[in-house]
Amino acid sequence: MQPYFAETFGNASSLHTHGREAAAALDEARMVIACALGARSGEIIFTGCGTESDNLALRGIALAMRQQGRGNHIITTPVEHQAVEATAQQLRDVFGFDLTLLPVDGNGCVDPDDVRRAVRPDTVLVSVMLANNEVGTLQAIAEIGRVCREAGVPLHTDAVQAPAWLPLDVNALHVDALSLSAHKFYGPKGVGVLYLREGTPYMPPLTGGGHERGRRPGTVNVAGAVGAATAIKLVSRERESQARRVQALRNYLIEGVLSTVPDVRLSGHPTERLPNHASFVFKHVDGESLIMALDLEGFSVSTGSACSSGNPEPSPVLLAMGVPPDWALGSLRVTLGYATTEADVEAFLHALPRCVAQVRAAEQMV
Ligand code: PLP
Repeated sequence: MQPYFAETFGNASSLHTHGREAAAALDEARMVIACALGARSGEIIFTGCGTESDNLALRGIALAMRQQGRGNHIITTPVEHQAVEATAQQLRDVFGFDLTLLPVDGNGCVDPDDVRRAVRPDTVLVSVMLANNEVGTLQAIAEIGRVCREAGVPLHTDAVQAPAWLPLDVNALHVDALSLSAHKFYGPKGVGVLYLREGTPYMPPLTGGGHERGRRPGTVNVAGAVGAATAIKLVSRERESQARRVQALRNYLIEGVLSTVPDVRLSGHPTERLPNHASFVFKHVDGESLIMALDLEGFSVSTGSACSSGNPEPSPVLLAMGVPPDWALGSLRVTLGYATTEADVEAFLHALPRCVAQVRAAEQMV
């Protein structure tokens, strides 16, 4: 990325030499990302983050479809990232779309037959995430894609969690739009990608100049795009061997947690999940206190429950999966990376039972 901050600093939209050099780098980055997704260069739009890609996909497609008189109905799920959830809610509450939330089972899975049943003649968009950020569950996107294709309804998938772990091919998945975020595959923060299939109705939610063929106006972050393209090239090389290695470590971690900590359950699908992802719910444990206790031991993990004004709220994703609220308050998400070692997992398994016991003891005293 460095040359594009200092030497090749031109604006990719400028016609002069500096601009054309930057534009060449941007074209190359776009081609690399397109190749990694089985897409065409012109179908790749650089954005500012995964959230923006989700926003552009949902608003851009839904509004264009409605303008073409295709209908007013959107289908999504109750386990989406807030970037999709809040956009869909706004489309319902402010723009007057009819919104259907598909059911999910206890593992957080959507049944493609439920998509088939939910699609109506006035459905303009289906959005189902590929891999869940909180519980790691993978959805049957290719099957859902076939259902949408048969019905002639565009399908968007939020694949932000996937590229470092799963090969992605937009044609095998039968998707019309797909969101990525570079920092989730070891690229820079502040760069997103939206794949938008040629011919998909789309009204640019951001209005302005002609950048990104008018689909995302605004000067493009050239260094960021180069970083994202380099990152996807690097993960494409390592993905298969890392996924195998990390999945074995992750399985060891799950077995260790379930056999050493009382009153704990795995959340999400036992096998159809991201290979690096382990998530649990604990009875009588405050998720945020557990995060703090583990942080003191040197582990950076997260919880799905959010504490606003001293009142912990269980994760809506876990509630939609039928996890009882008192368990959902004690959720823990542990993700492994390309750099995680067996010694790291051993150390975690050593620290966790002690941290859980500490948090439970402290809660009993309150
Ligand atoms: N979608 C999913 C599934 C995510 O996990 C995230 C971020 O964690 C996002 C969207 C948003 O991405 P960004 O932080 O780049 O806006």
